[in-house]
Formats: sequence, C-alpha cells, structure tokens
Amino acid sequence: MTQDLRTAIAALAPRMRDDLERLVRIPSVAFEGFDPGPVRASAEATAEILASAGFADLQLIELPGDHPAVFGRVDGPEGSPTVLLYAHHDVQPSGPEELWDTPPFEPVEKDGRLFGRGSADDKSGIVTHAAALRAFEGHPPVTVKVIVEGEEESSTENLPTLVHGRRDLLTAEVIVVADAGNWRTGQPTLTTTLRGLVDCTLEVRTLELPVHSGAYGGPAPDALVALVRMLATLHDERGNVAIEGLATEPWSGVDYPEDTYRGEAGVLPGVELVGEGPLAERLWTKPSVSVIGIDAPTVHGSRNILVDRARARVSLRIPPSEDPERALSLLMNHLEAVAPWNVRVTLKRGNPALGFAVPTGGPAHRAAREALAEAYGRDVVEVGSGGSIPLIPVLAEAFPSAELLLVGAMDERSNIHAQNESVDLTELARAALAEALLLEQLSNLSR
Ligand SMILES: [Zn+2]
Repeated sequence: MTQDLRTAIAALAPRMRDDLERLVRIPSVAFEGFDPGPVRASAEATAEILASAGFADLQLIELPGDHPAVFGRVDGPEGSPTVLLYAHHDVQPSGPEELWDTPPFEPVEKDGRLFGRGSADDKSGIVTHAAALRAFEGHPPVTVKVIVEGEEESSTENLPTLVHGRRDLLTAEVIVVADAGNWRTGQPTLTTTLRGLVDCTLEVRTLELPVHSGAYGGPAPDALVALVRMLATLHDERGNVAIEGLATEPWSGVDYPEDTYRGEAGVLPGVELVGEGPLAERLWTKPSVSVIGIDAPTVHGSRNILVDRARARVSLRIPPSEDPERALSLLMNHLEAVAPWNVRVTLKRGNPALGFAVPTGGPAHRAAREALAEAYGRDVVEVGSGGSIPLIPVLAEAFPSAELLLVGAMDERSNIHAQNESVDLTELARAALAEALLLEQLSNLSR
C-alpha cells in the first residue's frame, strides 16, 4: 500500500501544482479595507478542488460579518475513525510589490520552488489535503472531514463561533492542522508547542503640562526618564526576563544552533544574544518581553522641555502552559511596583492569546511520526512555535479527546507573511504523501 500511495502521489505532482497555481492567482486577503470578492472566489475555488478530489457535502460556512470557510467530508469504511483536516484559504496582504522579485499573485517557479502569496501559507495546506484524498481515488480508509478557514490571517473573532457552533459537523478523533511546516527543507517536523502572548500599555505622567527644562529641570522628574527606568527593569543584567513569578518550561525538541539563529534573525555581527539557557528554550518555552512602541516627543522638533507624559506598549510572550491572565497580572504588578518617584502610572490591558503544549504521547502522534519518517526517509524532529496560533487552543477546548497534529509543507525558506513567499514543490509532494500514509495508518486505530 505504501508503494501504491508513493506512486499515486508522484503521479499527482502536476495536478497539485495546477491546484496551487489556481489558488495563488486569487488575492484572497480577508483584511478590512480589501475587496471581499476574491476571498469568496478562493472559497469557491477551494470547494471545487476539494470536490474534484472526492470530498462530498461541500458547503461554504458563512457567519455574519465573516469570510466563508469551506467544509467537506467523505466517509470511510463503517466504524473507521474520523480525521479532520484543517487549512486556511485567506492570505496576508502582499506588502509593497516592489519588494517582490515576481508579481505576488502570479505563480512563478524558480529552482523547484513555487513563488507567490499564499503558495506556502496556507494554500499549500489545501492542496496537500486534496492530494492525500486523490491518492485514495476518493475512497480513504478513514472518514475524512476538511475545514478550510477564510479569515485566519485577519481575525480570530469568529473562530470560536465557527468551531463551537459547528461542533457536530467538525467532531473528529484526530485533527491535522496543515498550517505549520518543516524545521529545514526535507526534515519532517511536528510542531509541539506554541507560546502565548499578552501585552499592556503603560502611561507615565509627572507634570500637568510640559514646562521649560531650564526654568524647572532638576527637581521635577521627566516622564520619559521615569518610563525608561521602568522598562529597564524588565530584564536582569544578563538579559533574562526579570518579571517575578513567570513560569518557564523545559524544551526537549530540536536544538537551534546559535549561528543559524543569528543568520536567520539577522542579528548584527558582534551584538550579543540575551538571556540564559538553551536557545530553543529561550525562543519557545521561556517568557520573552519586548517594548514594541513608545509615544514621546520625536527627536525631530524636540524642544528643551520636561516631558510631562510618555507611553510604551510592552509585549510579553509566555510559555505554552502559562495562564495568560496570570502572566498579564504579573507584568502589570511588576510595572506598578518599579515606578520611581511616585510618578502617576496608568496601565491598559491588551488582548491575551493562549499558548499551547500539544500532547504528544497518543497513537495518532505515533502514527504521524511513522508516516512522516516514511515519506521523507528521515526521523521526525519536534519544534516549537514562538508565536501563537489561536485556532489550536480553540480546537483543543472544543474537542478535548481529539489528538492534534501540527504539520505542513512550509520550510525555513518559505518567507511567509513577507515578500517572495514560496513553497518547495518536492516538499509539497512529500507532505501529501505523509498525509496519505497517515490516513492509512490511522485506519488501524480503533475508535
Ligand atoms: Zn497560516
């Protein structure tokens, strides 16, 4: 059977590419201010592709004020388990087109990679799901459901309604989220942790109004100086996060070599990295805090005054299992406690996002490891994600007994959300083979 699937996927390569090119040509940006027409067109194209792959019951799921999601299902043999496949058909805006080497919504192949917005994130996921089903000629060994969301990149507001409101429709024993990817091209990978995210805005006031720094400077504190002193307490002298009480979690997956990290993050030569412990831990399972904006007089046009008020937005990434509400309270308590000179402090909470640690001990995870290893000819590695994916905790909450698998055809060169996004076409075929092999393996799971 493995050989049959391998042969089938190899024969499907041109079809996968056609499907992907068709989808990439549709600028399905679901952001406010963009034409919603193409998002609908991409939902319709997705539905056609999935139907031609053998999915039945295709429907566009529409919530008020929402961009359409696409659902389909195909039944496996009586008593076989149900697997839900996820992807999204909306994309990030292209950003400045002059930064692209080729037009963002015109698929172009170069050196085995297909370039274009959404080629990786996440239209590759749609094509992977379609090809996995085509490999069984539309008759999979398990019941397969597919949900392709239409506003993953722009809004997570409707997501809980989409998932909780359609619980019966979406319910499954295994959920395959094809919106991640491989650590390195050709290296099969499972993403097992996601950090959460909280933020707050801090305002410091010291004076009723700005005043002449010659006439009054010296005794009266300047709000910007007070703010900077407070922000400087967020790290200790080694660069570790110094907010008392935050959890840290150990990391046991792949090692992230420092040189690789420096190169990929673009850290300037000679600039030291901050914090202690293995790099992967600092990136995926420990908290990290940064100041993402400051409101204060700009240098251009600055005058000799004492600054009466200044604001900063502080962003805190938290370990996968940390409670965001608790972390946000710790951050806000810290900032309040370190205010010097009894300055006036006002704190405003941002919207917290949950992290998640994917349970990895179950039978579907074992099956996924085997399927990925077979498809790629290499053992699987585990990586974390420094960012959050709101969908994952929502799915975990709605389907507490389902096993979640986070995979995909993206790799370290996919440049998602940026210019010149691309997917490696060989990687795309391997991802589809892995998914077909996974469906085969899951048919042995008893319900
Ligand atoms: Zn995505």
